[in-house]
Amino acid sequence: MEDSELAREAFKELFGRDSNYRFYVEYGKLHDYNAQVIKMYSNIKFKMSRRWLNVSPMIKKGLFESLLASLFKHSKVFRAKRTVSLEIYNDFIKNLDLSSESKNKDPLLYESFKRVNKIYFNNSLDMPNLRFGRAAFSKLASYNFHTDTVTVSSIFKDAPQDILDLLMYHELLHKKLKFSGVISKQFHTKKFRELERQFKDYESVDKKTTDFVRKKQIQSSKKSFSFKRFFKG
Ligand SMILES: [Zn+2]
Repeated sequence: MEDSELAREAFKELFGRDSNYRFYVEYGKLHDYNAQVIKMYSNIKFKMSRRWLNVSPMIKKGLFESLLASLFKHSKVFRAKRTVSLEIYNDFIKNLDLSSESKNKDPLLYESFKRVNKIYFNNSLDMPNLRFGRAAFSKLASYNFHTDTVTVSSIFKDAPQDILDLLMYHELLHKKLKFSGVISKQFHTKKFRELERQFKDYESVDKKTTDFVRKKQIQSSKKSFSFKRFFKG
């Protein structure tokens, strides 16, 4: 079956009805198991990394359904149902980090990973990719299930160790606990929050992190202010 046909099938299965949308599937630049969906007028296009080329149609169908479910999250017409493909797809995603591919690691984050893995996970976690992302102030860190990557905002490159470790601990909890829910995923569950609080001096380090971010934000706005002034002469 053609991928575009499979995408149509996915739509039908997920929402229990056919549609007038035209479906396109394109393989290209994305890394690892990343995939995106874009809707323009009556066209729905799936952009996939090449990794998906060799994945079985059942799982791919689940991927399409997962992307469609979030695309139509607020729709009153199309309501997603729980399907077997979605469940199989979720299991597939939850196990992606078990592959033994070599990882990229930033040395600073690697030290943090080793500390946190030892203290809080009894060294049970495999190392994910560890990288600093752009200097973001709102999304401080994230864990990507598709690529098994912990990304930390570059503003933390000179952060105290406990702040870095708390961010690392939070993201590694995502790696360990994965997610619950089939149609819409839940990440910060009650259990997650309970475990997060097990971090040493959680309250104070959490507050310290907030203060650190605020300080960095002020520094960066001052910098861009003088930058602008410079160019205005
Ligand atoms: Zn989180």
